[in-house]
Amino acid sequence: MTTHLVWFRHDLRITDHSALHAACQSPDAKVIALYIATPGQWQAHGMAARQATFLLQHLQTLQQSLADKGIPLFYQQCDDFHQAVEAVDAFCKKQHVSHLFYHYQYEINERDRDRALEAKLHGQVVCQGFDDSVLLAPGSLVTGKQEMYKVFTPFRKAFIQRLQEMEITCFPAPKKRTNVDMGTLAALTPFDYPQQAVDETLFPTGEQAALARLRQFCQSTVADYHQQRDFPAQQGTSQLSPYLALGVLSPRQCFNRLRAEHPTLLEQSDGGAFTWLSELVWREFYRHLLVAWPRLCQHHPFVAWTQQVLWQQDEKALAAWQQGKTGFPIVDAAMRQLNGTGWMHNRLRMICASFLVKDLLIDWRAGERYFIAQLLDGDLAANNGGWQWAASTGTDAAPYFRIFNPTTQGERFDPQGTFIRQWVPELAKVPDSDIHQPHRWAERQGRALDYPTPIVDHKQARQMTLAAFEAAKAAQ
Ligand code: FAD
Repeated sequence: MTTHLVWFRHDLRITDHSALHAACQSPDAKVIALYIATPGQWQAHGMAARQATFLLQHLQTLQQSLADKGIPLFYQQCDDFHQAVEAVDAFCKKQHVSHLFYHYQYEINERDRDRALEAKLHGQVVCQGFDDSVLLAPGSLVTGKQEMYKVFTPFRKAFIQRLQEMEITCFPAPKKRTNVDMGTLAALTPFDYPQQAVDETLFPTGEQAALARLRQFCQSTVADYHQQRDFPAQQGTSQLSPYLALGVLSPRQCFNRLRAEHPTLLEQSDGGAFTWLSELVWREFYRHLLVAWPRLCQHHPFVAWTQQVLWQQDEKALAAWQQGKTGFPIVDAAMRQLNGTGWMHNRLRMICASFLVKDLLIDWRAGERYFIAQLLDGDLAANNGGWQWAASTGTDAAPYFRIFNPTTQGERFDPQGTFIRQWVPELAKVPDSDIHQPHRWAERQGRALDYPTPIVDHKQARQMTLAAFEAAKAAQ
């Protein structure tokens, strides 16, 4: 009897799982599964404690779902990827594994790990990798010059054309297998990594919860997505990112569900469903970029001259930004949402990132690190892409002279201050008309506010930032 091993990574589900599906194709094969936690690697990457907790919860659910299908999930903990390769090799020998199935991960260390593993197992175990966390494999979509696209709009055009030409299918969960003695599986113990509770009311655990949220979103909310998605006080976006980041949900499931509800999706160029599809394509764009330019994984700016920008070293300002105490209500509310829940609305991520880089002139990498350390949906490609976009250091990023005004952004996207009041209770009594500049109101009223005064003057900060970018550009 052959033994098929599925190595689970950030793909914690049993439905539409390419590797699991392939491993289960042969009815006689014994199918087993493995997960290896690597806290040393997580530490180096700065992964949020909350995301580690969310991962463990999903792993526990996955172990049960797999057990119900007659597939045991084994668990090991290694410090880093080097040890993980050794551990998989030893595990394969012990379990007499003939075939290994897994999904590619596109970060540089992960790719090195897989190359090392395949070399180690060569001649002993047949390895089969799959592009599964994307709709289209990185490298499969290139310009006429056979290069990866550097601009999003033509990438999306080519992407949608490719989707029109192909069939995207989702694999069902495997059928129950009966040829493995399940014995008593060791309960998954917490990782040697900091843990932080996840609010189950916001982000319930499990593949079924994610699928239910996807279905509900595609049936109703998505219709108004293009109009609602920029307003943080509305429930206008899917909030599926924590599930997509850990692979509890696949992009194929998202696309197929969206298309099932909106059959003419690929013939459209606007509207809610098309706009949501565009966001899924942004997710792919950043993954494809990571493979084409692996130095992005090492946090190099895409645009080389921006390396010359002279950033400010201001620990006090950085701490005020991190804690949501900048005196700019929309920034503070957003940062408190991040600190409180591990999730932040996309418009707010753009505002907060722009504020750190363009108002405080602090190196975008400090923000990138802080976000990853807090986010439940932390994902290197999307986070790096988002930060480099906001900092004007990335490909197809906001131009450096485009600097968000945090006050007018607040006025535009949270006009009544509904979102602000949710997270900054100190401003509860400030009227709507003054919520974005509360100190003006307090001054007029002769009242003291228990809320910081703005830590920078936006106009002056803007000039300083423009000068810093222009100097860097001139020095190239
Ligand atoms: P929806 O609007 O419902 O979009 C659906 C899905 O598309 C998301 O779940 C996500 O997987 C993907 N998506 C949406 N927008 C983007 C985008 N701009 N770039 C890449 N993928 C996108 N997203 C992450 O998943 N992880 C991160 O670590 C991350 N860091 C970010 C940092 C900054 C500075 C910025 C500006 C954006 C970042 N994003 C990140 C992208 C985006 O903000 C989140 O994906 C989105 O807010 C998640 O909410 P949602 O699930 O409701 O998204």
